[in-house]
Amino acid sequence: MVGFLSKCFSLFYHTVCQICNEVSEADLVCKICENSFIERKHSYIKRFSELTVYSWGLYNGTLRQGILNLKTGKKELAQYFGKRIITFWDSIPEKVNADSLLIIPVPSHYKRIWERGYCQSVLLAKHFSKELKFEYTDRLITRTKLTKKMNSLECLEERIINIKDAFKVKNYNLCKKNILIIDDILTSGSTLCELARTIKNRYEGVNLIGLTIASGDIY
Ligand SMILES: [Zn+2]
Repeated sequence: MVGFLSKCFSLFYHTVCQICNEVSEADLVCKICENSFIERKHSYIKRFSELTVYSWGLYNGTLRQGILNLKTGKKELAQYFGKRIITFWDSIPEKVNADSLLIIPVPSHYKRIWERGYCQSVLLAKHFSKELKFEYTDRLITRTKLTKKMNSLECLEERIINIKDAFKVKNYNLCKKNILIIDDILTSGSTLCELARTIKNRYEGVNLIGLTIASGDIY
């Protein structure tokens, strides 16, 4: 009984971790979850022919659960992970000149937004651009094809076919030469590469960079 009352008291005065659901003194994510995240350190850069992608953490364990929670209702986590990728971005020595940077999210299909109520990449990209005072738009490109969820496809070829021609560039007065695309995870890179190809087909000469919370090891 004492334990139960103590937990109720704690719940009243503390928040609940958005990843493990335990009572936490931290705002959104408890210290136990936070300490279990694995940063990618020296393997944070992945270079594709279409773009270079920077990823802060390793997509497994608690961080994987946190990203899954972000995608399935706990949209407040966008604020937490937004802060983490800002700190990570600030630590990257070779990043491009911030004065000429346009921030865009990887767009979701409108049916997915309707199901989920939001697009997690939009929330992340908005938080990132607002805090760092970068120009932001979600009007440059749209997702016109309702693709299968990439994590349901094991093989790289299936992922490439699934995402092919999924995006369409909209009429946009593009002044910036450097575009930073923000997404939650990088796995095979198929989505970011297809998005980058679609933009480059319309706007030659733009430099594209990717930034994700985490990346897996499927390349
Ligand atoms: Zn936790």
